[in-house]
Amino acid sequence: MVPPAAPPKRGHARRGEGQWALGYREPLNPNERSKKDDNPLNVRARIENIYAHGGFDSIDPADLRGRFRWYGLYTQRKPGIDGGRTAVLEPEELDDRYFMMRVRIDGGALTTEQLRVIGEIGELYARDTADITDRQNIQYHWIRIEDVPAIWQKLEAVGLSTTEACGDCPRVVLGSPVAGISADEIIDGTWAIEEINRRYIGDPKYSNLPRKFKSAISGQQDIVHEINDIAFVGVEHPEHGPGFDLWVGGGLSTNPMLGKRLGAWVPLEEVPDVWEGVVSVFRDYGYRRLRHRARIKFLVADWGPERFREVLETEYLKRTLIDGPAPEAPAVPIDHVGVHKQKDGKRYVGAAPIAGRVSGSILVELAKAAERAGSGRVRLTPHQKVVVLDVAESDVEQLSADLAKLGLQSNPSPWRRSTMACTGIEFCKLAIVETKQRAADLITALEERLADLNSQLDVPVTVHINGCPNSCARIQTADIGLKGMIVTQADGTQGEGFQVHLGGGLGLDSGFGRKLRGHKVTAAELNDYVERVVRRFVEQRTEGERFAQWAAR
Ligand code: SF4
Repeated sequence: MVPPAAPPKRGHARRGEGQWALGYREPLNPNERSKKDDNPLNVRARIENIYAHGGFDSIDPADLRGRFRWYGLYTQRKPGIDGGRTAVLEPEELDDRYFMMRVRIDGGALTTEQLRVIGEIGELYARDTADITDRQNIQYHWIRIEDVPAIWQKLEAVGLSTTEACGDCPRVVLGSPVAGISADEIIDGTWAIEEINRRYIGDPKYSNLPRKFKSAISGQQDIVHEINDIAFVGVEHPEHGPGFDLWVGGGLSTNPMLGKRLGAWVPLEEVPDVWEGVVSVFRDYGYRRLRHRARIKFLVADWGPERFREVLETEYLKRTLIDGPAPEAPAVPIDHVGVHKQKDGKRYVGAAPIAGRVSGSILVELAKAAERAGSGRVRLTPHQKVVVLDVAESDVEQLSADLAKLGLQSNPSPWRRSTMACTGIEFCKLAIVETKQRAADLITALEERLADLNSQLDVPVTVHINGCPNSCARIQTADIGLKGMIVTQADGTQGEGFQVHLGGGLGLDSGFGRKLRGHKVTAAELNDYVERVVRRFVEQRTEGERFAQWAAR
């Protein structure tokens, strides 16, 4: 529980960072005020009882721009406003009367029945939109407030929800798409993900955090663990056996930081308690004064991992954690694309859409194709891909052909496989540039122009495209990271373009790409630029050299 609030000393010169545990309980900014005035989880009743009947104009602005997020709802961008004007408009001038809605899919785990329902909702209420995000969620667009209760009913009937899909709270927990079936995992984290959901999601004790809180749990390194607020990564302890290595304080956005190991080994059955301890440290000691310093990474950076672990152990867990070894990074990034053998001899088939762009009808057809192949389980990945589990070897070929007809390729080109893009200007109010269509165009161009290099490219070259500095598509950890901005065009006018970051990565190449000073490309030059960089890499690399190593030379 939160320690009793000791009032700040008289004459205290600084207002502090707004840390509750130090007595700073009075809200220091409008976001904190809004959360204190009314627990954001209470907005659900108003949506069901008032706004869904009264329509868009009946919505209280404090709910619309604040508390709606706790149920995965944001207004989407009004069409036709270019990125250059975003900075000069008030937020309400960018608001469309429609919503983006995010469905939380913890561990990316879906039955084919759940997948079908998600697809049908997209067809019925979202103009057939349904994107796969890089946090294993599904994101709809064009949602009307009038339809939200009916959508919740349909989702909840199959055990899904939008609760805490956005907002200053514990968001979706990433998990291995192949948990429990992969021969490569050290331990299956599924129980811990389900238990955290059951115990803590939607609990008002954890619904007012300083900012968002991103979690990841996997028995292998397939969940981008270094850039989560908390991560549990499978590791074998020499005495205690399989368990998890605990990381805290990772996150990208405008102040990127990699998570720090606390040096602690956590057995599966203790993961939910330790997760609760860390989220409580964040709730009580996290900085609430300035939004841009409110993520847990700033606290971890200031305290250091030793002090963080000490506070966690002494004030919250009331016991010491077991010291543990670091997990070894895999030789190549794990994305689960292609056909792979499961522990039980069946196969799983991972397939790539273009930068996560699918649709409600594609998801319905995907559910049918999976069932025809004898599968009842589909997974979404943190790389915007889908994986069909439990396929008999004899059904793999037909399934792959069915997936290909849906634009989901199980043997994709290197460019389709390794390109990601965020939502961008099509729907996102913060966006400065177009992203999804640009990713599609770039993939097509690279597939044509770089076909001669396919046999020489034995390592992936990842290309991530962001519509603004917020880094939803993780540009700092891509080989080629592209941050959307307004740049000067060849004719001297201002238009869409990108700041380039080169040589970032996770795992073996864990680190942020170099921001090449003054290195900006216009949108029109993008395809030529990426082609040039990849050709130079292939020409200059030594045998076995990865892109990040080459870029760091
Ligand atoms: Fe929107 Fe920016 Fe995130 Fe892209 S990176 S989805 S433009 S906030």
